[in-house]
Order: sequence, then C-alpha cells, then structure tokens
Amino acid sequence: MISIKLKNYNKPPKKLICPNSIKQIQRAANSQDGSICSGNYYRDDSVRSLLKAFSIGKRHFNKKDSPKCFYCESKGEAMLILEVEHYRPKDAVNKIDLAIGQKHNGYYWLANEWSNLLLSCRSCNNASAKGTRFPIVDHKNRIFHEQPVNSALILDRSNSKINSNKLISEYPLLLNPEYDVPEDHLTFNAFGRIKPKSNSKKGQITIEVLKLDRDPLRIKRKKILDDFIHDIKVLIEARDLGKFTSNENLEAALEPICKKIISKRRADSAYTLWGIYLNDNIEKLIINKLPKPYRELVKKVYYGC
Ligand SMILES: [Zn+2]
Repeated sequence: MISIKLKNYNKPPKKLICPNSIKQIQRAANSQDGSICSGNYYRDDSVRSLLKAFSIGKRHFNKKDSPKCFYCESKGEAMLILEVEHYRPKDAVNKIDLAIGQKHNGYYWLANEWSNLLLSCRSCNNASAKGTRFPIVDHKNRIFHEQPVNSALILDRSNSKINSNKLISEYPLLLNPEYDVPEDHLTFNAFGRIKPKSNSKKGQITIEVLKLDRDPLRIKRKKILDDFIHDIKVLIEARDLGKFTSNENLEAALEPICKKIISKRRADSAYTLWGIYLNDNIEKLIINKLPKPYRELVKKVYYGC
C-alpha cells in the first residue's frame, strides 16, 4: 500500500451526488440499512475509472492502463478483479471490531460517499479479509448513525468526508491510502514479508485485517527480488565466460536491469511499496548477494541510471 493523493474529496463524480443517489442515501439512513444501496452509483463507470486511474498515480484512466488494488498493490494478473470498496463498510460492521453486545448496521450513510470509496481486489476484500471489518482504537468513539440528507433532499457531506472532524474522532486502525501515509506504517524484511514500521499499531492491524502478508503476495514480492538477482548473475557469469569482451559491455547490459529495478518505485508498478524498499536497501538486498569482484561495478551502473 502506498499513498494515493489524487482524489479531491470536495469534487465527487456527479453520479454520486445526483438526486437519485441522494434519495437512496436518505432511504438508507431512514431505514438504517445500507444493503438497499445498490451499486448503481458507487459502481458507476465514472467512479470506477477515476479510482482505476488513481490506483496507478494517474488522473485519467486510459483503457490500456492496468489498474491495481489500493491495498495490496496487485495488478495485471489474469484473475484479478478490482471492485469499488467501502473503506467504512456500508451494511454491517464485523462483531470482532465491536464491543460485546454491540450491533452495528454499517455506515449506510457513506455508501455513495466519494471519500469512502477505494478500489480493492477480492483477496483483500473478501469475507475472510477486510469484508465488513472496521477496527477503531476505542469502542466508545464508534459512530452508529448519521442522516446527511434533509427533507428537501439537500445532502450535507460535512460529517461524511473521511477528513471530517466527526469521522477522524473514531480513530480508525485501518490504513486508508488516500488519507494516511502507509509508508510511515509499513515495511518489509528481506524475504518479502510485510511488517509494521516502528511498531505502528495501525500498520500491524492493517496487515492483519487485509492479510497483506498472505503467502501469494509474499511469494510474488520475493520473486521480484530473486529475479533481479538472477538476471544480474546471468550477465556476470557471461562476463566470466568471456561472452562480454569488456566490463563496459557488461555495464551496458546491466543498465536495462538497473533501470527496471528503479522503475519498481513507480506508482504504476505492482507492489510499489516493496519496490521502494528494494531500492532503499539495494546494497543489502541485491548488490551484496552478487560475486564480490562485481559489486562495485553493479553499484556504479545502478547509481548512474
Ligand atoms: Zn488487494
């Protein structure tokens, strides 16, 4: 998960604030039932395509772009389905996150709220992961009800935006990539395992809730690292075997690989946070794994890119 700072909370797509969407929120709030909020509004193409663009650091989505999950940063896989996800769940809160005896009908009034909508893969959002989870620091701060629509069908979003004083006062424990700075809460080890940074409680709970350390993710992250080391070693062996006649030739062959490593930092890469970690720890994770006589040479090429 990385910071995504492209959404303007004050300018929702028109579909989310059209009269019928507002009526729907009025009905949901009156009945305290978010399940009546069909996807007609929050799943609209105008919403989805903006979220897809934001997911890869762009303002506008092009059909050729490959979006990614806001949470785990998976992208481009054949079975990857990205859904519009409610950060605060719209029709229930899992009892794990509630005090004993509490029941919560979900944040139904936020079903079509722009700042509450993210893009998530099914593995992050299924019932055994995020589902209806929404942990907060203290049960006493939990908000149960809000009616942001008055009888004249005027929508007041002042208590609905994620950065409103009211919602901030819940102190959520789940990182939101658009509001929080995930880079301050999450880090890795050399095996691709994600872990909380500086003992961040928010980082720890987010990893648990979204299952960000699940095996398929950990294996894919580690493979990115292993593939880079492998590709560089292949070139070094070729130099040892005389296939490159000079170190200059080897340097030229290393350059595209080093550029590829650097490109893993980009927001449109899969697993950007891991890519940032790889680059920030390039010597420990990659260069020191190479045969000693070539380390300085690879370093020179990498830092020269
Ligand atoms: Zn995901």
